[in-house]
Amino acid sequence: MAKIEQNFAGKKYTVIFDDTVDDLQFKALRYGTDWRDLCGDGLILAMLHRVEELQEMLADRDVPVCSRCGEMRETKRVGQLFYCSTCREE
Ligand SMILES: [Zn+2]
Repeated sequence: MAKIEQNFAGKKYTVIFDDTVDDLQFKALRYGTDWRDLCGDGLILAMLHRVEELQEMLADRDVPVCSRCGEMRETKRVGQLFYCSTCREE
């Protein structure tokens, strides 16, 4: 059981997988608004898990990728994660 949320292209796209709720959610947002239902899309789910693995590997190596928006830019460590200046302000 997990909730995964990843942003792509800055925050243009957000993919949300959440099986911690009774009514499983797997969907894509575009500019923060519901865009696509992804239920049953194993390819996107596999890619989402791969992105998470890669982010964890990069964080272990102190590669500065923002944990929230996924962009590689100036980041600061906040606990276990890195955030860019834009995401730290939110
Ligand atoms: Zn960011």
